[in-house]
Amino acid sequence: MLGQSSRVVASMGAGLPLLVQNASGEVSGTSRKLKIVVAGAHPDDPESGCGGTIALYSNSGHEVAVLYLTRGEAGIPGKTAQEAAAIRTAECQKACSILGARPLFAGQMDGNTEVNRSRYDDFRKILQNEQPDIVFTHWPIDTHRDHRVASLLVYDAWIESGKKFDLYYFEVDQGEQTQQFHPTNYVDITHTEERKRAACLAHASQQPETSFYRLHEKMNRFRGMECGRELAEGFVRHCQNLETSVPER
Ligand SMILES: [Zn+2]
Repeated sequence: MLGQSSRVVASMGAGLPLLVQNASGEVSGTSRKLKIVVAGAHPDDPESGCGGTIALYSNSGHEVAVLYLTRGEAGIPGKTAQEAAAIRTAECQKACSILGARPLFAGQMDGNTEVNRSRYDDFRKILQNEQPDIVFTHWPIDTHRDHRVASLLVYDAWIESGKKFDLYYFEVDQGEQTQQFHPTNYVDITHTEERKRAACLAHASQQPETSFYRLHEKMNRFRGMECGRELAEGFVRHCQNLETSVPER
């Protein structure tokens, strides 16, 4: 039983599609270029949940777009929604340039995000235009309403597309926000955590060093312990992914 568990952990340590790492964490090149979309509710969510993995994908020549559902309009005390959005949009651009990704914005309002027929349609069209091979988003059991909305919008788009892309979930502020999250896949971010940290710190308006990145430092270490690496990010793979769009896996 113990031996079987060890093998499972070892195989999970292999990571995600076309992100094959050797024992020292280096990523091997591939001929197939993937399109990855990482969809988060607010500026700093994709970076904190997935930043090390984004850097690995972009390092190995894959295209990554970071799709922010809002521009963090409610996230800076004393600033109007418009002022906060301008500051935080610039922070997103800086973070994405650190990670080698392209920022996209889905046009909803921080703290007031909606799920309804027209929001589903709008969001689905954005993802359709991107034609992703893989989409990462929030795990749906999360204390933040906007995170739950982002997750449901992606999930709906995945179903409506005929499961055309593979769907993975990431975690943010484990325990405080994401809950009941048990990874199925791990990515060794020992060599890209520095860029993840820099991308998170680009969100200076959120004081990441004394707030969310403190927690993510612990999460990086803990997920690393679980898969036998120094630092890692954990993901939940949707069990109905068709895996037809990435033939080289
Ligand atoms: Zn958030």
